[in-house]
Amino acid sequence: MLVTRFAPSPTGYLHLGSAYAALFAHDVARAQNGRFLLRIEDIDATRCRAQFDAAICDDLRWLGLDWDGPVWRQSERLATYHAAIRRLDELGLVYPCFCSRKDIAREVAQSLSAPHGPDGPLYPGTCRSLPRAQTTARMGREPYALRLDVQQAVARMGTLEFDEHGRGPLGEHGRITAEPARLGDIVLASRDRAASYHLAVVVDDAAQSVSLVTRACDLFASAHVQRLLQALLDLPVPAYSHHDLVLDPEGRKFSKRDHAATLRDLRRQGYAPDEIRQRLRLRASGGLARLGLGT
Ligand code: GLU
Repeated sequence: MLVTRFAPSPTGYLHLGSAYAALFAHDVARAQNGRFLLRIEDIDATRCRAQFDAAICDDLRWLGLDWDGPVWRQSERLATYHAAIRRLDELGLVYPCFCSRKDIAREVAQSLSAPHGPDGPLYPGTCRSLPRAQTTARMGREPYALRLDVQQAVARMGTLEFDEHGRGPLGEHGRITAEPARLGDIVLASRDRAASYHLAVVVDDAAQSVSLVTRACDLFASAHVQRLLQALLDLPVPAYSHHDLVLDPEGRKFSKRDHAATLRDLRRQGYAPDEIRQRLRLRASGGLARLGLGT
């Protein structure tokens, strides 16, 4: 059975960009008598708010989207994520990183050929080869993040592939060879986040039997390293369907700061949910999305 999910982080009200992602996942599931799940990705306690969690559920209902089964919340699943990180550690693929953001920026600035990912420079691997004796002592007294040694992990797992039913940002489609190093040595856990986005998503998609991951194409690079995590953790591999980003009338990504484009605000302005659904769906068949709502 086809299972999709919508997995928002409750850091603000739902805007049109996330409403589109929800509608997309919903419609694909409903068209094939599948299941549509709602998962609240609320691990980052510094940014997530219960108020937005409740508002997201409420706004989705208002939009007319019904999900199957109970809502999952990642904050309730930390023990499962820790077990997954332990397993990666037992494979010898995890190392502590003591670098602050500033340290990383400095290191990147000093390096002549810092590797770059889709969102800028990647972590340059500063702490990857620190001796164990040294890291153990430092872990007792300094904050640190746990990172995945991606190169070693790739060497262990060999070539991996995934199926893309939608499109990546460069039109990538079909059987894709994963390039897990695209995002560098990803963080698995840090002081602020008991489990990183990549780790938690992979564990939960498997636990919820998600068979098709649908989301905006700005997360396409994530699929590459998530494929690696699936292989390392021996998890089933979903198919992917990345879709266009919904852009504001100026052609920019909606952000949580665009109050005019939140479902809350559109509702207040008197838009009917049918109308919003219809306009979002029209964009779904019309390629790159620009919506003339709420501006
Ligand atoms: N929680 C992620 C976000 O809000 C969604 C990630 C995903 O769909 O894999 O961007």
